[in-house]
Amino acid sequence: MSSALPSYAEAAAIVNAHAAECARHPASERVDLESAAGRVLAAALRADRDQPPFPRSTRDGFACRAAEANKRRSLAIAGMIHAGQPPAGPLLPGSAWEIMTGAPVPEGADSVAMLEHVERSGDRVRLLPPRKLESGENIVPQGAEARAGDEVLAAGLRLRPQHIALAAACGHATVEVFHRPRVAILTTGDELVSVHGIPAPGQIRNSNGVMLASLVAQAGGEPWILPTAADNDHALDEALRQAVRADMLLVTGGVSAGKFDLVEPALARLGARFHFTGVRIQPGKPLVFAEVTLSSKTSKKVFGLPGNPISSAATFLLFGSRILGALAGNACAGPRFALAQLAKDVKGKPNLTRFVPSFCDFDPSASKLPEVKTVPSQGSGDLMSFSRSNCFLVVPEGTDRLKAGSIVRILLI
Ligand code: AMP
Ligand code: MG
Repeated sequence: MSSALPSYAEAAAIVNAHAAECARHPASERVDLESAAGRVLAAALRADRDQPPFPRSTRDGFACRAAEANKRRSLAIAGMIHAGQPPAGPLLPGSAWEIMTGAPVPEGADSVAMLEHVERSGDRVRLLPPRKLESGENIVPQGAEARAGDEVLAAGLRLRPQHIALAAACGHATVEVFHRPRVAILTTGDELVSVHGIPAPGQIRNSNGVMLASLVAQAGGEPWILPTAADNDHALDEALRQAVRADMLLVTGGVSAGKFDLVEPALARLGARFHFTGVRIQPGKPLVFAEVTLSSKTSKKVFGLPGNPISSAATFLLFGSRILGALAGNACAGPRFALAQLAKDVKGKPNLTRFVPSFCDFDPSASKLPEVKTVPSQGSGDLMSFSRSNCFLVVPEGTDRLKAGSIVRILLI
């Protein structure tokens, strides 16, 4: 039965194909650069002038001609150039300008001797042996990083701090970014109460709603948490009718084979087309990926995520993030994997790819890969164990055992 389900790789390929199809260009808006971190650029940014805009000294020292300095003759100090001053010069033969880091190198100078490498006496300065200066040393030439008009950041890029800095350096006080896709988060289950409520005997708190909201926000979406739907057809139909107003839907719970797993039939009543209704993974095997068509132009992608919190998180990261990234206009969205070295043996499964909550020490000693350890767990509902994890260890389908010391893939959380 389970072999009829797609493997992890097959399911990922199906989702990727749909992601490519929905990678339309969302509407955009202009925002201040200060609030643009995490947003996706809708239009490329160009350099407004050369970067650096002048030949820039990378050291405090003396701007001079290398050939003259290397002769060890003392050079006359012509003056001082601070960062922020207009370019000084020209540099007369036999002289040097005292210069600060970030200041424009005067015309005629081809190098900067570091302060620590010279001896100054009065208004003269000499390069100390055994130092020799190379032509170009400690100078970044004008335009070496980018030329005026060059594209410096491409459309589709999700802005990280390093991009924000470059945008500022290039004079972009505001940037055009795509709207964040709105993602409906519908939790289902009679047993759930909100974090504000008091659980009756047998009830538990709804932790998936806020967890998925934070995963959605982290992936560049705008979470829209709907009230929890009870386990009955009427409640689910009503809730789904609301939820389809979003750009994408995440429904949790109610997708296994139990008596009260009513999400799939409710989606079917909405006319959903099912791309798959299970994947050969653990956790997350009952994952549903479907599409609800509202008109000839609009259809909404829906994930029915298993209710167990760890299954929900893993399946969102593995699959949901791909569609969300595409809807957000993000050119390289989706799960992030890394390599690590396994601390202890881990068993595999013949017909399932396992994703095991694990902790990876990202501060390895030099020349070592980070070490990853699985975290002891009571199963896919164990939030204590999950909160001690920072990744999932990937155990590929058909692996009998991953051996301690082997190099393994991890999915970053
Ligand atoms: P289900 O997929 O509906 O069978 O749920 C599987 C398990 O996950 C059950 O133990 C549920 O109580 C639990 N669960 C379902 N939804 C949530 C939720 N929103 N927050 C926390 N646990 C949940
Ligand atoms: Mg349920």
